[in-house]
Amino acid sequence: MNWLLLKSIFRKNKMLTNKILEFKCESSGISHTVNIKVTKRKKTISIRIDKNKILVNTPNFVKEDYILSLLERKKEWISQIILKNRKKYKNNFVNNREAFYLGKKYKINIKKGLSNGVILKNDNLEILYKRKNFNIKKALEKWYRLKCNLFIEDRLNYYSKKTNLKYNGFSIRSFKTRLGSCDNKKHISFNWKIIFMPKQIIDYVVIHELCHIIHFNHSKLFWKEVSNLCPEYKSYKNWIKENISIFNY
Ligand SMILES: [Zn+2]
Repeated sequence: MNWLLLKSIFRKNKMLTNKILEFKCESSGISHTVNIKVTKRKKTISIRIDKNKILVNTPNFVKEDYILSLLERKKEWISQIILKNRKKYKNNFVNNREAFYLGKKYKINIKKGLSNGVILKNDNLEILYKRKNFNIKKALEKWYRLKCNLFIEDRLNYYSKKTNLKYNGFSIRSFKTRLGSCDNKKHISFNWKIIFMPKQIIDYVVIHELCHIIHFNHSKLFWKEVSNLCPEYKSYKNWIKENISIFNY
């Protein structure tokens, strides 16, 4: 069960509206995102956990403080579910025999072949190996890095010409959750795992890093520049936030 229903009596107070809060569990010190949705019909509060997000449905006569204290009281239950979800979404790659490539999910098919290699075939990603001591994860990462390099090179050239923003080389690197970075020498780095994401999201990441060439911060002017090239950027940012678990390689 990953939801709770709570009945309580409340005094009429400041009306609550839909909002997103940050709940920092006092005992564990871990912060969680809380989506509060106000429902007019219901007289009860319900808490639901979706992956690592807390979703609260509440009547509008409840105070924000009350919800936070409620979450604090239910912290054991919340962290239990979140931990369970984290395990469920971890290692969804080679262990679950599933792989993402340009936003599409593929089934991993491991076969003996004449040489080592990775081939995309319809909905399958075939990994061929010659000898038994072959490291699947390493081979797959090598293939991803190669594909990422080619894709990024093409998109960077395209947007650089379009915007006349000149960068000073790029590299494909390994970051834990970071998607990319741009240093003060205008050299851009990208996380090889962005090749898991849909093309339009990768384009947004490329645009984001290119815009750092003129704005070395996340100021209003920076976002204005990003929005000129990628008007949909807000929904892409949300997509990234919600799908960051695909980075668990
Ligand atoms: Zn940035």
